[in-house]
Amino acid sequence: GFPEASTIWKDGELIPWKEANVHILSTAVQFGSSLFEGIRCYGTPSGPAIVHLDGHLRRLLDSCKMYRVDVPYSAEELAAACFDVVEANGLHDGCYIRPMVLRGYGAVGMDGKGSPVECYIPAWKWGAYLGADAFSTGIDCCTASWARPAPNTFPGMAKAAGNYNNAALIKMEAQANGYVEAVALGSDGMVSEGSGQNLFVVRDGEIATPPINGSNLQGLTRASALQLAAEAGVPVRIEPIPREALYVADELFFTGTATEVMPIASLDRIAIGNGRRGPITERLQQRYQDIIHGRSEDVYGWMSLRGGG
Ligand code: PMP
Repeated sequence: GFPEASTIWKDGELIPWKEANVHILSTAVQFGSSLFEGIRCYGTPSGPAIVHLDGHLRRLLDSCKMYRVDVPYSAEELAAACFDVVEANGLHDGCYIRPMVLRGYGAVGMDGKGSPVECYIPAWKWGAYLGADAFSTGIDCCTASWARPAPNTFPGMAKAAGNYNNAALIKMEAQANGYVEAVALGSDGMVSEGSGQNLFVVRDGEIATPPINGSNLQGLTRASALQLAAEAGVPVRIEPIPREALYVADELFFTGTATEVMPIASLDRIAIGNGRRGPITERLQQRYQDIIHGRSEDVYGWMSLRGGG
């Protein structure tokens, strides 16, 4: 559950968790106009380190720009606020940080004109999103019957609360049918992503992943996996992937901030490879884990420490 004894950064102040409330008629509640991020912080030998902090805040400000939401804070101010929240709540051993920019209470109409822009940064302890065992066993997934949004309907590149109505349908369908997660297709029928993670396909020692095409989020963990694939000398193709290519893959894995690097053991009850975590997935997963936990040098500059570095 949520740590109700803790504090949340709200527009420059730390306020009690229980006071971080909005009115029922806030534009964000009525119309989904909330832009947000999901960031992880890990306890490392050098102190709490936030993964891809600049990238997440840039994506947050980009999401706001797409939705014509003017944010009165710079990325630097928001970065400092993220560290404030970690420190104020004693979350040095690691946590999940959820910056949110939303249209508050005031406007009657969906344009939100007259509603104040409010910015909140809660954080809480959050373990392995899809279960700790799954890092080695992999997860059972299905193909979602719901497609991801078509390009030019609403922006897939924005991390907007409204997008997660689609993601929730995908996730709920998977769980209702006994799966952990789902792979969703785009409106073109080609592979898009999971409900909250990007997808990678391994076959014959090469990696493929779908392009960022308006149906999916430009994941920061996806970018990390691409760096680690290059480091490992594994060729990568970014290309449209038909659904059937997934069933005959040697390995499939998801990437995401919450999910980290997660093997997929089966898709639609078809075993992927031998139905276990494959060697390329394992290698990238280990490297990712070692860097984020501070066990290996941060050679790609993913990690932010308070006061720079
Ligand atoms: N796709 C969706 C829909 C997501 O919600 C997420 C999680 N933010 C991702 C992909 C992965 O992105 P990231 O690696 O930046 O967390």
